[in-house]
Amino acid sequence: MFSINPAYDLNFGDYAIGEFDERMNLYRRLEKEGVGISVMKAFCGGKLLDASESPFHQALSKTQYIQYALDKPGVLTVLPGIRNDQDLQDVLAFFKASKEEKDYSILGTFPKLESYNHCVYCKHCHPCPKGLDIALINKYYDLVRLGDDLAKDHYHHLALKASDYVACRHCDKRCPFHVQQSKRMQEIAAYFHE
Ligand code: SF4
Repeated sequence: MFSINPAYDLNFGDYAIGEFDERMNLYRRLEKEGVGISVMKAFCGGKLLDASESPFHQALSKTQYIQYALDKPGVLTVLPGIRNDQDLQDVLAFFKASKEEKDYSILGTFPKLESYNHCVYCKHCHPCPKGLDIALINKYYDLVRLGDDLAKDHYHHLALKASDYVACRHCDKRCPFHVQQSKRMQEIAAYFHE
């Protein structure tokens, strides 16, 4: 079990140990080692649900924070605290939520992430007009560079790979985390030679 939420990842709060990159590398390493993460504190004890308590001075929904945690490498499940029937209904609403309701791209405008330019696998840039799974291609690439052979095998079996990128720059325009996928896809294609 591990505590994951945007505040901890961005170094706000008691359990916010490590910079964003270090924490992302830990999640990738756990995925590579085959260790699944069950996420605790997805709402930072409720603070992230209240704009007056959130370090970002803006509240996101439970659904957005659950999706944020689920997108991290290695994460298998999120275990939200439940105090009453309403809490349970709020959490179960995740299963019926639309893509828009799960979208947490607003985080890309928050301090510390404003200058971040690495893929966080959020899929906000999807759907790719050509059909590439941009988030998955990035995830496999990051994992393979950490020595994950399984991810290498997964990459080789993708129907469309970085070399299929057509430089339309759709994802460059759509990415809230300022990733230049036009450069990144060239880098990934050169790394895998496909
Ligand atoms: S390129 Fe940007 S929008 Fe697309 S999955 Fe990565 S972080 Fe999300």
